[in-house]
Amino acid sequence: MDRRQFLKTAGLAVAAGAASPILTSCRGLDGISNSSIADRYSTELLVVGGGPSGVCAAIAAARMGVKVMIVESANCLGGMGTSGLVGPFMTCYDSKGENMIIRGLFEEIVDRLVAIGGAIHPSQVRCQTEFTAWIKEGHDHCTPFDPELLKVVLEQMCAQEGIKVLYHASFVKPNMKGNRLTGVVILTPSGLEAVKANMVIDATGDGTVAYRAGVPCVFGDPENKRVQPASLFFRINNVDTDRLIADVVPHLPEFRRVNGVSYRCLHWRVAEAEAAGEWDLDRKSVNIWRSVKKDEWVINCTRISNVDATDAESLSASETEGRRQVQELMHFFHKYVPGCENATLMGTASTMGIRESRHVLGDFVLQVEDLINGIIPEDVILLSANSIDIHGAQGGASGTKYIPIEKEKYGIPYRCLLPKGMDNLLVAGRCVSAVSAAAGAIRVMPPAMALGQAAGVAAALSLKSRVTPSRLDYKDIRENLLKQKAYLG
Ligand SMILES: Cc1cc2nc3c(=O)[nH]c(=O)nc-3n(C[C@H](O)[C@H](O)[C@H](O)COP(=O)(O)OP(=O)(O)OC[C@H]3O[C@@H](n4cnc5c(N)ncnc54)[C@H](O)[C@@H]3O)c2cc1C
Repeated sequence: MDRRQFLKTAGLAVAAGAASPILTSCRGLDGISNSSIADRYSTELLVVGGGPSGVCAAIAAARMGVKVMIVESANCLGGMGTSGLVGPFMTCYDSKGENMIIRGLFEEIVDRLVAIGGAIHPSQVRCQTEFTAWIKEGHDHCTPFDPELLKVVLEQMCAQEGIKVLYHASFVKPNMKGNRLTGVVILTPSGLEAVKANMVIDATGDGTVAYRAGVPCVFGDPENKRVQPASLFFRINNVDTDRLIADVVPHLPEFRRVNGVSYRCLHWRVAEAEAAGEWDLDRKSVNIWRSVKKDEWVINCTRISNVDATDAESLSASETEGRRQVQELMHFFHKYVPGCENATLMGTASTMGIRESRHVLGDFVLQVEDLINGIIPEDVILLSANSIDIHGAQGGASGTKYIPIEKEKYGIPYRCLLPKGMDNLLVAGRCVSAVSAAAGAIRVMPPAMALGQAAGVAAALSLKSRVTPSRLDYKDIRENLLKQKAYLG
């Protein structure tokens, strides 16, 4: 059975070759000969992927005097936060909701957004309000933001640091010399081109650089043979927010989760639509989040299971299904939800929202117990208290397993950024070395940005000292992160 058949028949998304959960090979790229592709660019640090983690990696390194280039396949920075319309920024506070523990570049980005009316500061946002889809657990102090203004802020910050940003540029394969990357091949509208680089950070979300460099990767959760479902985000406006809130608030005491299925926001309206035969989504409620402008809302409700983000066929089918679900939801809003009768679809995300794909195997693999037990390792690079959310934990699109963080916070080790066996490659963001469930806690944007900042600092230190990233002194990383206003306790 080939991989695609497996995904279709088993309804599960697992690694290439069902026998082994470890991905090690790359397909179809051997025919591309490095020698025939001209070096068009040369940089000290190349960041592949300009999402939340990649941008922060680039800025952190540039602020330490390194020449940095970002290659990004989309037409903007921000990744899931912009192209994916994902929001709000999940919590950056400790589990008690008392202290902001993710700071550094994340905080600077938030402050810049707030200054131009593009975000509401997390100190002002409490759980169980319209800004958190009225969710209580784990959602205190989220940060609603405007994705268009996030694009602008990130571009301005990169420009200020002299970072070269190349859009419409997809990473194709690494150029290798032993355990080192000498650069990469990219596909741009001009064709195949090469970038020479002394150091590379993989911030693709999917670990594509590490994987194609031969680093072992794990796809999703091999034990349970699944990846978390994908979601196509969309935004609506022209909502009578006061009427919508008035419909929701009296139902708050009924919010519950039964066998992993959430009966939360608008579950009473979903029940009406279901009774009328007008609901075919695998959900019992609708997650809607008020945005910065009062009449604008972000909708995180479509669910598509078994999406393999490393396969264009699978992704293509998911985009079409996502848009179908959006149309269903728009009908639902117009017909069943008070205040949404005249809601307008502002737009669907320009890319499918991928919660999970490859996890790169690194020098340390983060475990769920590390988070639950509040372990703060010696090589800590960021603190977080984001809860462990395993969407689709019971198979299918619905059924979320949620593990709250009882300790005040946990720490993420630097070793999670070090792909096994590589001398000048770091990973950042969603694809860092963690088991599937642990990744379900640290993949959200505030920790992803902090992971990026740490990767950027380490890359800069490594370039300056000519010491491979795995041999850096943790104290130096820590000191430089603190200089860049990160919070490490
Ligand atoms: C459905 C869903 C809901 C979520 N909800 C929230 C939420 O409410 N709050 C929150 O804080 N987080 C949320 N997240 C998590 C969060 O958005 C992501 O995990 C986070 O953006 C990861 O950051 P990243 O930089 O690692 O990757 P990404 O944001 O995925 O960025 C990766 C970037 O790399 C680029 N790229 C990929 N491959 C290549 C290539 N080959 N060549 C060049 N460029 C490439 C992509 O275009 C993209 O810009 C959600 C995610 C999803 C999918």
